[in-house]
Amino acid sequence: MAQNIRVQHTEPRRFLQPASGYLQDYDYTLNPFVGCVFACKYCYVRAMPIARFHEGQWGNYVDVKQLDSASFTRELIAARKRGAVRIFMSSSTDPYQPIEYREQRSRTLLEQMVAHADLVDFLFIQTRSPLVTRDIDLLQALAQRVMVSMTIETDLEDVRRRFTPYAPPLPKRYEALRTLRDNGILTQVAVSPVLPASDHFASSLRNLADYVVIDDYFMGDGASGKRTKQLHVEELYTPDEIENWYQPHAYQKTLTQFQTIFPAEQVYVSRMGFLPPADRK
Ligand code: SF4
Repeated sequence: MAQNIRVQHTEPRRFLQPASGYLQDYDYTLNPFVGCVFACKYCYVRAMPIARFHEGQWGNYVDVKQLDSASFTRELIAARKRGAVRIFMSSSTDPYQPIEYREQRSRTLLEQMVAHADLVDFLFIQTRSPLVTRDIDLLQALAQRVMVSMTIETDLEDVRRRFTPYAPPLPKRYEALRTLRDNGILTQVAVSPVLPASDHFASSLRNLADYVVIDDYFMGDGASGKRTKQLHVEELYTPDEIENWYQPHAYQKTLTQFQTIFPAEQVYVSRMGFLPPADRK
């Protein structure tokens, strides 16, 4: 875990926020926390207002949103009255970062969604944490209304450590995917952003996911790579890697690799791969 983590509890006005921009095809985003101690070096959230106007350095704080179950249920009921309820959890934090072990905020939100499953059309969970397997009982209760998308940007641990030193090790994420799949949960691998990887990357994930999404800084940072440039992510690459991996066309090599291992209809690029499967074209 990153050092000197400051934890505070806050009172949110609401949990469900209208989705927009990259996630505009969802109805709501759901962030149980503000801040993320995984502190990925390429994380563009640190360049967004939610982080820029927050005290402290990105990765060194977590605000835990206090949850009143009854009021969250009222939010779900009100959302249902407005129409479809497709939820993306989470757009600016990881819902299964370490504080979740103790606080169980994401778990409690899931419990409410299971208790009122008729009010939820689809829940997309984006995480890089094996802790999501703790909630398999609830995920199973949501059945086809939930997908877990596990970030795995490379198969090389040394690359993972260089770009995301505080994130869970790759073998644990592979194991988590296997556990989810074995328990009947719809799974996806999010190669997002594409990082330098081996020629065996795609085959190492064979049979571990129902879907794959491939994304990079140029398509996925919401500003055609400009936010990433501001973060000086380029400096993390060796000169050879810049040539081969830090280019707008570099993702195509990874895409081709995955398309040789996974059926074409299971592999998506960028935004399309973050939609509920039923909404993908
Ligand atoms: S896990 Fe996601 S939100 Fe957290 S630092 Fe990494 S990229 Fe940012």
